[in-house]
Amino acid sequence: MQHVVKRPFPVFHSRSGALEIHQVCAWQDNFVWVMVDRNIGEAAAVDGPDAGGTLELCARLGVRLTTILNTHTHPDHIGINSDLERRGLLKDMRVVGSSRAKNPIPGLSEPVGEGDTVRFGGVDGRVMLTEGHQNGHVSYIFEDILFCGDTMFAGGCGYLFDGPAEKMHASLQRLGQLPPETRVCCAHEYTQDNLRFAFSVEPQNPELRRRIADVWARRARGESTVPSSIGLERATNPFLRVDSEELQAQVARQLEGADLTQPANVFASTRKLKDAKAYKQLPEASLPV
Ligand SMILES: [Zn+2]
Repeated sequence: MQHVVKRPFPVFHSRSGALEIHQVCAWQDNFVWVMVDRNIGEAAAVDGPDAGGTLELCARLGVRLTTILNTHTHPDHIGINSDLERRGLLKDMRVVGSSRAKNPIPGLSEPVGEGDTVRFGGVDGRVMLTEGHQNGHVSYIFEDILFCGDTMFAGGCGYLFDGPAEKMHASLQRLGQLPPETRVCCAHEYTQDNLRFAFSVEPQNPELRRRIADVWARRARGESTVPSSIGLERATNPFLRVDSEELQAQVARQLEGADLTQPANVFASTRKLKDAKAYKQLPEASLPV
């Protein structure tokens, strides 16, 4: 399968330098995030549809894949576990996943939940329960690196498969309170589509206009637009911007019966408007690129 990203995001480090973070492209638009601790020669992979790219990366770097962290149980996130099982590699693996996971996590050895600590290499990661996309969905925070699966996307958020909207809204609000420099390592390259919708509800937001120009240029070069940062998401992601008067006015205008009485209702109406997909007709020429 051809991946939409031709040039993965360059390797970067967590704040202290302890962890090297690699973006591995898988299937059409998935990302596997691989944390490497060079001191111990180990790697941990967060989610993924398969293990191929991750194992190749580990071989190239000369490190051992010892740990899998799963955010939730959709097949393109726990497929990596099953793939390792097929290759006979799962039994030796440490598998961290939600104690409230909706479906069984292959090889789960370390069930975790809200407030738990996951140590990898020299770093203590934090677990947050971030439901709304799927029941039991967790996110992991290692220093200034956030692995949020399908909860927050660059410029958007995941579908409300299990919902309800109130839960997703609460999850996004909590993630949005992380320090602004926090890197948002989400699981898909969906940014252009997300920002097209963002523009349809906040066309006058100057930071959004700048971001669109930047993202379109990067995608034209085949680059990834992930990770983003919490600060950038707060400034441009419509699902974190329920307080924006422009967004509220646009949602009221575009969605019949829009309920804007509480922040969670603004979120729910905004998500409903995106699901109606009318923004996909927005002509390219109307975008500030
Ligand atoms: Zn999912």
